Amino acid sequence: MSEHLTPVIIVGARGRMGRVLIREVTQSEDYVLTGAVDRSGGPGRGMDAGRVAGTVDIGVTVSDELRPRRAVVVDFSLPSATIDNIRRCVEASVPLVLGTTGICDKTRAALSEAAKTIPIVSDANFSVGISLLTRLAGLAARALGQSWDAELLEIHHKHKRDAPSGTALRLGKAVAKATDRKLADVLCTERSGSAGEPRKDGEIGIVALRGGDSVGEHTLMFLADGERIELTHRATDRAIFARGALRAARWVESRKPGLYSMADVLGLAELR
Ligand code: NAD
Repeated sequence: MSEHLTPVIIVGARGRMGRVLIREVTQSEDYVLTGAVDRSGGPGRGMDAGRVAGTVDIGVTVSDELRPRRAVVVDFSLPSATIDNIRRCVEASVPLVLGTTGICDKTRAALSEAAKTIPIVSDANFSVGISLLTRLAGLAARALGQSWDAELLEIHHKHKRDAPSGTALRLGKAVAKATDRKLADVLCTERSGSAGEPRKDGEIGIVALRGGDSVGEHTLMFLADGERIELTHRATDRAIFARGALRAARWVESRKPGLYSMADVLGLAELR
């Protein structure tokens, strides 16, 4: 057992990720759950967080208001909740680990502003494998250059609200950046119609499939005449995101204010 337990408050506690996070915290010897928050209404309010997560009672009740104190807030809820959660973390001077995806530009700006005051780790994908894949995507794109066509296929469960996934966009950005492009200028998310134009040079395509219970799959392809490279990551258990987010929570606890990513947590930012 560690000498120091990282206190954690989970926001979105009743959700798919929230419940996994609660289970991971309670099974670990490095963390202690000091709060669990979900929106008002719906089942589970006032219930013990352990019971909500399908384990034993742990003496933490799910509340409908985030009032952080001396803990790291781990937020996997909804984009509409993010701005308010950021504000509450700043007011209480507590670090934030933000996993919620699909946040808008206004929220992104609020995140950057808040990072002047508190340390924040924000990442569209907290898996160690995806963090490495992102770095590999940039390295491959830089080595291959723009003449290799980059196309990305992602698959997620049918409940996912945003498309393409935050991870797919991040991989696309890594490829674009490594080859001196801006993803927004070259992104293509739809190809249909028989009278359509052929693929434009320099385009980066992303296709999103939704269905079943897929935790998340990303395949980045680099295609050239006569050969193709495929880099694939398949998540089969959402516990990988929870473990990564908790690793980030422990790391961010002692950081200076700033906006960090999982690459910083893992030290991948230095990999050239
Ligand atoms: P979910 O819909 O199962 O759960 C979201 C939970 O947030 C729900 O219980 C909902 O009631 C709660 N919620 C809504 N508004 C709230 C508010 N104002 N305050 C507190 N709680 C509120 O979704 P999920 O599958 O658990 O995913 C949650 C988020 O995490 C999504 O944005 C998803 O894309 C993202 N996600 C990120 C990663 C990552 O590694 N970054 C991995 C998986 C999922």
